[in-house]
Amino acid sequence: MSEPLHYRSTRSAQHTARIEEVIAAGLAPDGGLYVPEALPQLAPSAFDPHGTLADTAIALLDPFFRGSALAPELPALCREALDFAVPLRALPHHPGASVLELFHGPSAAFKDVGARFLAACFRRLRARNDAPLTILVATSGDTGAAVAAAFHRQPGVRVVILYPDGRVSPRQAHQLGCFGDNVQALRVSGSFDDCQRMVKAALNDSALQAVSPLSSANSISLGRLLPQMSYYAHAALGWWWQHREPLNFIVPTGNLGNALACVWVREMGLPVGDIRLACNANATLPDFFDGAAYAPRAAVPTVANAMDVGAPSNFERLSWTFPHEHELRAQLQATSVDDDTIRRTLVHHAHGHHELFCPHTATAVHQLDQLQDHARPWVVVATAHPAKFDSVVEPLIGQAVTVPPALAAMLERPASAEPMAADDAALKTWLVERAHGPWAVAS
Ligand SMILES: *Cc1c(COP(=O)(O)O)cnc(C)c1O
Repeated sequence: MSEPLHYRSTRSAQHTARIEEVIAAGLAPDGGLYVPEALPQLAPSAFDPHGTLADTAIALLDPFFRGSALAPELPALCREALDFAVPLRALPHHPGASVLELFHGPSAAFKDVGARFLAACFRRLRARNDAPLTILVATSGDTGAAVAAAFHRQPGVRVVILYPDGRVSPRQAHQLGCFGDNVQALRVSGSFDDCQRMVKAALNDSALQAVSPLSSANSISLGRLLPQMSYYAHAALGWWWQHREPLNFIVPTGNLGNALACVWVREMGLPVGDIRLACNANATLPDFFDGAAYAPRAAVPTVANAMDVGAPSNFERLSWTFPHEHELRAQLQATSVDDDTIRRTLVHHAHGHHELFCPHTATAVHQLDQLQDHARPWVVVATAHPAKFDSVVEPLIGQAVTVPPALAAMLERPASAEPMAADDAALKTWLVERAHGPWAVAS
């Protein structure tokens, strides 16, 4: 029971690491993704039925941190990261169905949970390692703002955000460029997959790392994935104590970080039933779960841009979790939803039911509409606030979307981003030239 959990790379079991090393590094040294050697098992009885989301997170993550330097800090880490509401709200027009609203954090998307947890970990780990650190983030829109908000003005840390120029919403672009201080936004003339490749190449470049120590804050970081498990566990356990049945989830999916957190909660033995992935026109995962060979491809732009991913990174972790392909294929179902259907779903629910969703959430809402399964409880996971995507939502529904206060404050600040070629070497040069500051916030 008190044995600390070891972590390894998806690509080899030779090298093992402790959780604090895993969180500090982001990517494993062989280019693989870190995973626990085995997923801990927990029963509902390990949790307090009257506990808060943070209490659930503390009990859930305890076996992942046991014996580590961060273990004594785990309660504080969870309370800092999960200090906003994550309500499970019944959908009045859909018997038995609810929405899990993950967008009440500072940047109005679910990525606040992982980013805030990671930043809270880095604050503790920094005291033991004083070399200034650059956090590289590739973002399809929402990660960058969540990470920037979480690390803004944190001493000794600089955040460099790479986003695909022209492929994020105007409000997302504004959010990415509005921080200043220790946050720099780079608008890359390429796709999200290009940004992700550039970040991976930089992290794997030991010569570059020697000049400018780097870490990542992408969903490839376990420090983001693990806390995302908390809201699935909390919702499923809350339902379990009331109804004694598992909760089923439909998860808007791009890079597969959010949905994988849900899969791991189920693998740990907690009462999660079916998990369905809702994808946009980027159909790499739906094609695979429909029986085709896994075939990553270039991303195509859609109105649900935070899911414009053709090569989902966390597939490597999913295949590690289920090494036999027939077993893997049995775990999940995935559907691709095209832009027209996303638009029709948004209009139908706004006019028919006075429900506003973001375009990503609409892919999951569409699947719920198609299911017509009123016998089992389904949860649509709402990944962002619709006001972040006003340029998509407002022309469709013909009315303004109310902007939450944290987002409104960001939009009032001026914003700027530097151009960057979609080229690994260009990013390396940029980082080397700026390795020694001046950074706005000194350590
Ligand atoms: C990032 C994001 C997604 C996709 O999540 P993954 O973990 O990459 O699968 C979906 N919706 C929104 C709003 C997002 O920001």
